[in-house]
Amino acid sequence: ITPSPTSKVVLITGASSGIGEATARRLAASGHRLVLGARRTGLLAALARSVRAAGGTADHHELDVTSLESMRSFVREARERHGRVDVLVNNAGVMPLSMLDALKTDEWDHMIDVNIRGVLHGIAAVLPVMREQGAGHVVNIASVSGLRVDPTAAVYSATKFAVRAISEGLRQESREVRVTVVSPGLTQSELTNAISDPGVRESVRDAMAIAIRPDAIGEAIDYAIGRPPEVDVNELVIRPTAQG
Ligand code: NDP
Repeated sequence: ITPSPTSKVVLITGASSGIGEATARRLAASGHRLVLGARRTGLLAALARSVRAAGGTADHHELDVTSLESMRSFVREARERHGRVDVLVNNAGVMPLSMLDALKTDEWDHMIDVNIRGVLHGIAAVLPVMREQGAGHVVNIASVSGLRVDPTAAVYSATKFAVRAISEGLRQESREVRVTVVSPGLTQSELTNAISDPGVRESVRDAMAIAIRPDAIGEAIDYAIGRPPEVDVNELVIRPTAQG
């Protein structure tokens, strides 16, 4: 893989599994230079090694998106290494689904911390850099749950509606920064592992039988990043054909 003139420095949060990992592999194959973040650094290190073995460029850093300081140091280290930050993919997310009356308030807080605060922390960390560069691209991973609400998904949906609202606000306010929202439907990943209610977990896993490969989302992100600078792909929704 030879970095082309259109090769970009791309930071991906939550790159240790699922959509983030598949996106990393896809973008590396397109010649982009990657900086991978998540908490499970062993998985990130293995992914970065595998990308480099295939001829790509990837580094990794420990990242907890719930901490603004951690996000700032992730972005700072990436910039020190590559001199710029072209794209941030705010992908890290959690989905511990449950009925509201189960009152799993710690899980509500955790979803708000990772899915909303995490995205805001990412924006806070890269916006000054992108403004200084006069260009940049923020790709936020929302969900079809950011377009509709289903039982057990009230809080998760609320966080993803918020991601779309924040993205639209950022888009309107930023004339130099491109903003893309990618909303996946059912996609193979580790996302259902965090569902603590066994009944809910089982029924979501049944629904996941039709889930698409995470590379389908990576491919969509690659497409959005690859458009010319004056073209901003604002919103992509990618579902399994069989999803209702
Ligand atoms: P995974 O569980 O496989 O991946 C989630 C990633 O987020 C992991 O790499 C995890 O890394 C990371 N993460 C979680 N908490 C933190 C944190 N505090 N700091 C940094 N990283 C964190 O699930 P997916 O790949 O499916 O999820 C990716 C995104 O896609 C999420 O935003 C999710 O909501 C969204 N999505 C997924 C759909 C699906 O069907 N799979 C459908 C719609 C949207 P680590 O644990 O190492 O920190």
